[in-house]
Amino acid sequence: MTAPRLVVVGAGPAGLSAAMEAREHGSDVSVIEENSWTGGQYFRGRPDSTAPGSPRKFARHVGDMELILGSAVIDAVSGRLTIAQAARRPRQVSYDGLVIATGAYDRPVAMPGWTLPGVITGGGAHTLAKAFHVKPGTRVIVSGAGPFLPQLASALAIAGSHVVVCEATGFATALQTLAWLSRDRAVLRQAIVELAALARARIRIKYRRIVTAITGEDRVTGAVVQAVDRDWRPLPGTATSMGADAVCLAFGFVPNLDLPQLLGCGVRYDPRLCTYSVVTDSGMRTTQAGIYAAGEIAGIGGARLAAARGRLAGLTFAHDAGLVTEARYSGRLKTIANQVVRLNRIADRLNQAYRPGSGLWSLANESTLVCRCEEVTAREAELALEHNSRTPAALKAATRAGMGPCQGKMCTPFLTEWLRSRHGYSVPADVRPWSVRPPIRPTRISDMLE
Ligand SMILES: Cc1cc2nc3c(=O)[nH]c(=O)nc-3n(C[C@H](O)[C@H](O)[C@H](O)COP(=O)(O)OP(=O)(O)OC[C@H]3O[C@@H](n4cnc5c(N)ncnc54)[C@H](O)[C@@H]3O)c2cc1C
Repeated sequence: MTAPRLVVVGAGPAGLSAAMEAREHGSDVSVIEENSWTGGQYFRGRPDSTAPGSPRKFARHVGDMELILGSAVIDAVSGRLTIAQAARRPRQVSYDGLVIATGAYDRPVAMPGWTLPGVITGGGAHTLAKAFHVKPGTRVIVSGAGPFLPQLASALAIAGSHVVVCEATGFATALQTLAWLSRDRAVLRQAIVELAALARARIRIKYRRIVTAITGEDRVTGAVVQAVDRDWRPLPGTATSMGADAVCLAFGFVPNLDLPQLLGCGVRYDPRLCTYSVVTDSGMRTTQAGIYAAGEIAGIGGARLAAARGRLAGLTFAHDAGLVTEARYSGRLKTIANQVVRLNRIADRLNQAYRPGSGLWSLANESTLVCRCEEVTAREAELALEHNSRTPAALKAATRAGMGPCQGKMCTPFLTEWLRSRHGYSVPADVRPWSVRPPIRPTRISDMLE
């Protein structure tokens, strides 16, 4: 009898952990990853890390699994995925169980000048600096919120940039959050390392400040920085201009939901966090039989939580496939579930402390592009509103926002919040963020004809 086949999409900490756990219980495992390396976002530029879900830990198991790198899942139906590979024909991969661990991407924020060359997302800038030792600019303004900012700023400083950090929340919030988090040794250690790196690079954080507009003709030459209130609303009379050749916008991450949505998995909107995520039960089962969610797609919570959720998903698959005895399952489940609960608590605390303030959705002026693929301006979106297009889906139909190559990844998270905060839209519990159609990754036409 052949072992049940688990396919894992995404080789970040969540996907690698799911693969290792399921393999340990006897599953036949394949891992599909669009990059040519494993480790996802967190382990890029950290080749020596042996943290849970790291490529070094995975290397010990890789001989027992099929690892399909450089291959993006572009389409899916129940039980079968289509993957595109450079210089090869697309391939079909079938599965008995599927773990989706496709991670997150930087939250897009539309403001005047955000499409100028020299504006870069926080995650993108961090990857450039830590993995490739490339600085996005010589004088860089980082505007955002949360514990990722110190990591980002020190990586940029090491790469050779002069960095100014604008943190949207207040100093008291940072202090209270740090005090609360210091119960967890690993978090405390990481915070100390990051604060020491900031001090060494002489980087000061300007609290309750955000970039409200980015200036320049053909590329970034500076930015307008303003003090903000508790809701991140710019305070009149506080605008100052600063010179810069790069601006990093780092207002957190949003889950990458195209594959789960394509497969009909339920998603849920959390108005406190301003994100959708995949609905799961306590074993990471989605609403579709045989499909499990792991990592950031089940809610933003960082690499350690992603890895723990990945292990849980791998274990649940092995249990559902009849590979683990009830006794072994409940013992292992207890250990991992306790870890997930503890790490969830930390994630909740961070997400609450740094939840996006509604002022962020009012920065765009009339001529600001809100959908950069289809070049839709805020004015055009306002006009559509006047004609009763009051939901993201209706705005999409009226303006073409969300119909470009990124399939709404860049504009829909912003437009949902823009409608919510400025126009009183309340997201119904059962409404999906946007419809997803294949291919979910940019694909050659010849591949689509196969
Ligand atoms: C650009 C960026 C940089 C980040 N850097 C850091 C950091 O330095 N420190 C930190 O604490 N947190 C960082 N984060 C947050 C980070 O997402 C998590 O903490 C952690 O990496 C989440 O693990 P994951 O396994 O859920 O997702 P990821 O690590 O994002 O892994 C998901 C994997 O899925 C793959 N994938 C996605 N779609 C497909 C598809 N259709 N087909 C095939 N493969 C696919 C991706 O290529 C990726 O390798 C970053 C996030 C982003 C977006």
